[in-house]
This record gives sequence, structure tokens and C-alpha cells, in this order.
Amino acid sequence: MENNYIKQAEEALLHTYNRYQIVLEKGEGAYLYDIEGKKYLDFAAGIAVCSLGYGHPKYKEALKTQIDSLMHTSNLFYSKPVAKAAHMLKEAAQMDRVFFTNSGTEAIEGALKAARKYAYTKGSGKYEFIAMNHSFHGRSMGAVAVTGNEHYRTPFEPLIGGVKFAEFNDLDSVKALVTDKTCAIILEPVQGEGGIYPAEESFLKGVRELCDENDILLIFDEIQCGMGRCGSMFAWQGYGVQPDIMAMAKAIGNGVPVGAFAMTEKVAASSLAPGDHGTTYGGNPFVCAAVAEVLQIFEEENIVEHVQQVGAYLENRLEELAKENAFVSERRGKGLMQGLVLKKPVGEVIVKAMQHGLIVISAGGNVLRLVPPLIITEAQVDEMIDKLKKALAE
Ligand SMILES: *Cc1c(COP(=O)(O)O)cnc(C)c1O
Repeated sequence: MENNYIKQAEEALLHTYNRYQIVLEKGEGAYLYDIEGKKYLDFAAGIAVCSLGYGHPKYKEALKTQIDSLMHTSNLFYSKPVAKAAHMLKEAAQMDRVFFTNSGTEAIEGALKAARKYAYTKGSGKYEFIAMNHSFHGRSMGAVAVTGNEHYRTPFEPLIGGVKFAEFNDLDSVKALVTDKTCAIILEPVQGEGGIYPAEESFLKGVRELCDENDILLIFDEIQCGMGRCGSMFAWQGYGVQPDIMAMAKAIGNGVPVGAFAMTEKVAASSLAPGDHGTTYGGNPFVCAAVAEVLQIFEEENIVEHVQQVGAYLENRLEELAKENAFVSERRGKGLMQGLVLKKPVGEVIVKAMQHGLIVISAGGNVLRLVPPLIITEAQVDEMIDKLKKALAE
């Protein structure tokens, strides 16, 4: 049975992924089940997306209700869900204006366009971006252009141009790249795909000052580290360093494809205007009903506080593991966005973990990435550690 679906999929899909040989069928809380009924504890959450886990009753109800009334309108009209979601997201993000997209890469695309338009309106002649090595911002041409990984960029060159790469957490390396043409600096407060590297507070503060001194916009990519994952609603709030523009996606819809970019009024006033940017699906009633309900549930269930508690517990258990296990050399991360640097091929450990009923993924070359649903319990953290120890021992 299982192999049949895999075979069918492989015959029809473009081969851009080396998928795990598992056909998933349903989810419940922090657990997933494959078509043979095998149960997995999920520490991947569909790559940091399914924060509320699977089958949250209020979330499901909100989506079903919206399907029954209206799925899509285009952005030529208003709808109740878009009004509600935009307001709630703007509050949560402490930004002034929001634009909904269908994905993270489009949120980055919009953020880059917003920065270029701002410079254009100001007549400053600025167009350069400074991005970071080991960053990941998505797969569209603009997002790839600012992604600090040559392997992702080279086959698609020439990209948008005017992009330079600095070392993350090295303020001098950023300063060295600033010119009178620098329009924006883009970075993830906690780098995800690149290997789970949290920014140092002094670095973010230094970059903010550098931007203020040189009229450069600061863009934060909160697509993975945002939405409660690092113990504050958005990671920057934990650092106290506010961006001018921020990109969001992944967990804001809990599985419905939606992203957003947001900005301060200062930027918005001189940036994208009618005719400059648009999307057919972006922020339709269906996805906005999801965003509004997710934000509502975050409040009602104190998800951020829960992440602080269970995140601290996870961090302790991982520190212990890093100390006592010969195959783990380091732990890095913040809250429920954690990475373990392994001294064993990560891919092999992941497959072994799956055999033991634990779903984990990788980040960068040798890092095991742990980004569970935010609703996980301490008991589930213990369950993960037990399974991971077995996988590491084999
Ligand atoms: C996943 C991710 C993206 C890209 O989002 P998509 O929805 O896959 O386009 C961009 N930036 C970061 C930090 C991400 O983790």
C-alpha cells in the first residue's frame, strides 16, 4: 500500500525533494500517523508551521465555518476575516501596516520591494541590500538573491543584483559593507535553515544603530523564528530591537498557506502604493479566518508563556544530552527552536528516529533541528529525548 502512493507520487512530481519514505495520513495534537497506523511524535511541525499541533477543535471549527460562508473574494473587495486578521496581526507584530501573501518567499519579495520603493520615493538613489551568510529567505528570485548559500543562488544567476553578504553576529563585517547606496539590511533574528544560530543581542542592537545612523531600513525575516516559537510573539520582541519591515509566514496560518509582510507607518508612508504590488489569493477570507483564529487561540491559551516554560525544559534536557552523549557536540537555539550539532551523519539519525516513532529534521549540514508544535508538554519532551537517544545509539 504505502509504496504504491510513493511510487505514484514519484512518477508525477518534479524531483526537487528527497522525501522520507513515509505516507502521512492524520494528526492529533503533537502526534502524526502514517497510512499503516504507525504513530510518530512530531518535532518538526511541518517545518515550524503547525504550532497548535493537529486537529485543534477551535481552529478546525473556524475554518469549516469560513468554508461554508466564503472562500475567496480577490483584493478588490473587503471581507470580515481580512479586517480582523490584519488588525490582530498588526497588534501582535507591533507594526502599523500589513500585506498578506501566500508564502514566506512572497513575504520576503514584498519586503524587498517595499525597501526599494522607499528609497525610490525618497530619491536617495539607494538600492543595495546587505544580507547574512548562512541565511535562508526563500526560493523566489528575490529571496534567493538575499539567501546566504551559494548552492541555492549560483544556478539561477544573474539574480536581482546589489546584494552583499556579511557574517551573522559580526557587526564589523556588516559595517564594512555599508555604502551610500545601502537601502536595507535583511536578517533572521534566529537563523533557521542555515543551522539554528540565534543572534547576539549586541549584534542586533548594533545593526539597528547602524541603520538609524545611515537611513537604512532594517528587515527582519521572522518566518521561522516568529509566532511564539522563540518565547516571545516575534523573536525581535525578545531582543527589544524593532525592525522597520518584517516578514512572517509558516506558523501564522497553522497549516493554511499564508504569509505577510508588515512595516511601520514611517516606511509605509513612502513605500508601496496602489498599483505597486498585489496578489490574487493573498489574504483571502479563508486564510485570514485561519490567521485570526490562530492569534485568538494564542491569546486564550497563553501559548507564548507555555513556550517559555516548555522551551526552558527542552533546552535543559538538550544541554544534558549534549554533555553526556558522545554523538552530540553542541546545543543552540531559543525556546522551541533548537538545534543539536551532531558528530554523526544527521540524515542517518533522522531515519533511525523515524523508525523509533519520532519525526525530526535537519538544518544546515550537521544540525538536527527541533521545531515541535508549540503545544508540546514536558512529558513529550522526555519522550522525544528517549527516542532520540535510541536513534543516536544505533
Ligand atoms: C521557510 C522560510 C522562508 C520561505 O518560506 P516559504 O513559505 O517556504 O516560501 C523564508 N525565510 C525563512 C527564515 C524560512 O524559514
